[in-house]
Amino acid sequence: MTAERVVIVGGGGGGDAAAFALRKRGFDGEITILSADLDRPYDRPYLSKEFLRGEVDLQKVFLHDEAEYSKERIELRLQERVVGGSLRDRRLSLQSGREVGFDTLVVSTGGTPRRLPDAPDSDNVLTLRSLRDSQAVRDALSRGKRLLLVGAGFIGAEVGASARQLNREVLMVESAPVPLARALGSEVGEVYASIHRQHGVDVRTGTTVKEWHTSGGRVVGVTLSDGRREEVDVVLIAIGIDTNLAVPQVLGLELEGTGVVVDEGLRAADGVYCAGDIALHPHPVLEQRIRVEHWEVAKHHGRGIATSIAAGHAPVTRLPYFWSDQYDVSLEYRGNASGEDRAVWRGDKAGLHFSVFYLRDGRIRAVLSMNDKELNEIGGKLIESRSHVDEKSLADASVDLLELVPAKGS
Ligand SMILES: Cc1cc2nc3c(=O)[nH]c(=O)nc-3n(C[C@H](O)[C@H](O)[C@H](O)COP(=O)(O)OP(=O)(O)OC[C@H]3O[C@@H](n4cnc5c(N)ncnc54)[C@H](O)[C@@H]3O)c2cc1C
Repeated sequence: MTAERVVIVGGGGGGDAAAFALRKRGFDGEITILSADLDRPYDRPYLSKEFLRGEVDLQKVFLHDEAEYSKERIELRLQERVVGGSLRDRRLSLQSGREVGFDTLVVSTGGTPRRLPDAPDSDNVLTLRSLRDSQAVRDALSRGKRLLLVGAGFIGAEVGASARQLNREVLMVESAPVPLARALGSEVGEVYASIHRQHGVDVRTGTTVKEWHTSGGRVVGVTLSDGRREEVDVVLIAIGIDTNLAVPQVLGLELEGTGVVVDEGLRAADGVYCAGDIALHPHPVLEQRIRVEHWEVAKHHGRGIATSIAAGHAPVTRLPYFWSDQYDVSLEYRGNASGEDRAVWRGDKAGLHFSVFYLRDGRIRAVLSMNDKELNEIGGKLIESRSHVDEKSLADASVDLLELVPAKGS
């Protein structure tokens, strides 16, 4: 293979995985990661869970020791924000004023948490994306007694669970009628609402913050849309992210909505790939364009791109997968469903041991499992088979679902 220079923009899930996978697949050229972050790549999912609760120390949160980057000849440049560049000249310009040339480019710039326009700019009003953000939330929770969570998506729900495990009072305010409904549908969202309530979270749905009360530059309370005033010590705004599209935009890559248009192998232009949260991927198995904000997806994108760079362009076929741990409840999800898909339940909903299959035109598009790991894996195989399945069999706990998975090649 001819030596060439791969430059990776973004030192997160997708970027770090691409760099190490390139070496694993025998790529021998230069590899440079340009990351705007202050810290070397870390395991982001820990930040709302084990690290936030002080259960794992900092060294465990980093994806690799510093020495591994030099051992693998990966040049890791932190605090280097890409602000411009040209595909024709194969160059990027950095905020520091420097320029970096590339032969092949990987962009995995993730997202930035949204803020509420009317929320005061105060040091106890926080968002969570980076390691430093997680340290700030942890510090604030060590001093404050009552946390206000604005938004009950995954980050809000996980931080709420962690804060309860740290014995903090939690007020969760969500504008939608049900928490997590956008990601998981209302019925599973209701299950989560009740789990949080059982653990002592004050969940207020269909509610927003109407007024912020400050004292000495800090938020001390809020008035909610239901008219009630609540005293709070710490506020976390967790209302989703805006994808970081400045680099793809400045390079002239094709954007659509909140993502970058890529092909089945995540290529956005000749020698330019996009991974992770920003990639709008035509998934070859699901036969649908999806943009997914999940850790394993970003890592698989990075690895798939590395395969294409090292061994020739190939589609990235792995099904989207994510998990979420809240209290002792473990959720796993494979595939990608939408609100219109038919939901078929199987298992014990009240006992929190169940799976939900989402079907369209008789084929499974996604499977969600609560404390039901084995069935989630079988569900993944059924999705990959693209075969038509009988809803009655799916719902019937006495049917062995492995038997519905067609033998390979049949
Ligand atoms: C607190 C938290 C908990 C999560 N928990 C889970 C979970 O349990 N399960 C799950 O599946 N997913 C989880 N996620 C989502 C998952 O972490 C993301 O989907 C994943 O990190 C996306 O990877 P990425 O490479 O696209 O972006 P990121 O990991 O965000 O990396 C983006 C990188 O790009 C850098 N960057 C941005 N702009 C520039 C620029 N112009 N120049 C240079 N560098 C730049 C950033 O500094 C960063 O290093 C969680 C996310 C958060 C925030």
